[in-house]
Amino acid sequence: MSVLVVGNGGREHAIALALSRDPAVSAVHVAPGNPGTAAVATNHPVDANSGSAVAELAGRLAVDLVVVGPEAPLVAGVCDAVRAAGIACFGPSGAAARLEGSKEFAKDVMAAAGVPTADSVACSSADEVRAALEKFGAPYVVKDDGLAAGKGVIVTDDLQAAVDHAAQCGRVVIEDYLDGPEVSLFAICDGSTVLPMQPAQDFKRVGDGDAGPNTGGMGAYTPLPWAPDDLVQTVLDTVLQPTVDELARRGSPFVGLLYAGLALTSRGIRVVEFNVRFGDPETQPLLRKLDTPLGQLLYAAATGKLAGHPPLRWKPGAAVGVVLASEGYPQKPITGRRITGLEQLAAPAFHAGTADRDGLVSAGGRVLTVVGLGDDLAAARDQAYAEIAKIKLDGSFYRRDIARAAAEGAISSYRNGSEE
Ligand code: AMP
Repeated sequence: MSVLVVGNGGREHAIALALSRDPAVSAVHVAPGNPGTAAVATNHPVDANSGSAVAELAGRLAVDLVVVGPEAPLVAGVCDAVRAAGIACFGPSGAAARLEGSKEFAKDVMAAAGVPTADSVACSSADEVRAALEKFGAPYVVKDDGLAAGKGVIVTDDLQAAVDHAAQCGRVVIEDYLDGPEVSLFAICDGSTVLPMQPAQDFKRVGDGDAGPNTGGMGAYTPLPWAPDDLVQTVLDTVLQPTVDELARRGSPFVGLLYAGLALTSRGIRVVEFNVRFGDPETQPLLRKLDTPLGQLLYAAATGKLAGHPPLRWKPGAAVGVVLASEGYPQKPITGRRITGLEQLAAPAFHAGTADRDGLVSAGGRVLTVVGLGDDLAAARDQAYAEIAKIKLDGSFYRRDIARAAAEGAISSYRNGSEE
C-alpha cells in the first residue's frame, strides 16, 4: 500500500514515520512536508489546502490512501475532493469537520447527542457579550467561533480582557469555566465504529507552571497514570460514540480521527472541545507508543471496515514529547536561525517549523518536538530532556515541567472519590 500524508508539521512527521514502519506500507509521500518528513518519505510541493491539487497528486501517485493531518484542509473539504476522485481518505468531510471548524456547531451536536460539556452562549454583539459574561461570572471563558490554531480562547478573571478578546474575534462562544485536569482522548473512526487510543495530556500554556498565553501546545505525554481506570470506556460511551452516532444521523458520518479535549471536573467529565484530526503535539508521543501498524489501521477506518477490529496495541511504558520553540513564540517568533546538534540525538525529533536553507534553520514558532520513551514517565522525561538539551538554536526555549507532576504522582483526578 502507498500513502499520501497531507500537511507539514510535527504531527505529519510522526504520522509519516509510523506509516513507514508498517510492513504493509511500501511508499509514503507527504504534501508539502518538511525537512523531517523528507528523511522518511517523499515530499511534494503541493498546497495542502487545495482539494483539487491534493486529489490530482494522489491520482498521479496512484496512492491507496490519503491521510489529511491539519484542520484547515479538513474544514476546506480536501477529503471530499479526494473521495470524489475514488481514493480512500482518512479524514472527515468538510461537513463533519465543522465539529472543529465551528464551536457553535459542536455545541449543537453535543446537545443533540446528550454529550456533557460546558453551558455556553453564542454572541455577536457587545451587548450579548456583556450579558453572557455577567451570567457565567469569573473566570471568564471566551472562544472565537472559528478556527484559531489553538489561540482563539481566553480564560481570564479580568472582565475587560474578556470583553476586549470578544471584540477582536467577532462571533464568539462564551461558556462556563471548567475546573479539573484536562485529558486528550483520540479515537479512530470509520463513520460508525470508534476505536479509542490511550489518553494523553498536553500543555497549552507557553511557560512552566502553566504561565503565559496559550500556544499550539508545548509538550505532551501518555499514558496518564493518575487517570481513573474506566476513563476510556466512560468517554467512549458518553462522548465519542454518541457524537459519531449523531453525525451519522445527520448524514455527515465521521471518518477520521476524533479528538475529545476533556476536563475531569468536580462535577464529572465535560468536553472542552472537539478536534477533527490528530492533535499536535500529543500525536508524537502517542504514535511512538502505538504498536498496531498505522497504515493498515487508517486504511480500515477510511474504507469503513473497523467493525470487529481488535483493540489497539501499545508498547509498554511511557512517552513524553517536549516542544522546542523559537524566541518570541507565541507572540512574535523569530525565525531563520541555524539549528544544529540534531545528528547527535538518540531519540526522534519531529520537525514542525524548520526549513532547509543550506542547512537546517528555524521557520516557525514551534520548531521541533523531541519524544523520549521509557519504562515509566520519569524515564521517558529523562530521555526527552537529555536529548532536547543537545539541540542548538539561538534564543529557543522549552518547558521544563512537561509530565513532571504526573511522573511525581502529584496529579489526582477529581473522579477518584468524587461525588459524580
Ligand atoms: P479550546 O480551543 O476550546 O480547546 O480551548 C483551549 C484551552 O482553553 C483548553 O485546553 C483549556 O485549557 C482552556 N479552556 C477552554 N474552555 C474552557 C472552559 N470552559 N473552562 C476552562 N478552561 C477552558
